[in-house]
Amino acid sequence: MSSIRQLELLIRKIPREVPDWTATECVEWGGEVINVERRARSPQKVAYMLFHGEFPKQQTFRRCGNKRCVNPHHVLLKDIERARAS
Ligand SMILES: [Zn+2]
Repeated sequence: MSSIRQLELLIRKIPREVPDWTATECVEWGGEVINVERRARSPQKVAYMLFHGEFPKQQTFRRCGNKRCVNPHHVLLKDIERARAS
């Protein structure tokens, strides 16, 4: 599958406005990496970028715990989590 096609699919799957992350279900993605600007990117980060407009520099993790989930509303950045914990 081409990268453009993958991105189109991902865009279609991502929920738009979300009042609360629990209001959206997991968006599962087959674990396939997506090439963006000739670099293989994690689908989770690409989904985040599509929604927020920028690529996360930090490590990301999923608050839903679903390893296949790419829903950007379920993604937290490491720094944010550290700030919350302190
Ligand atoms: Zn999820």
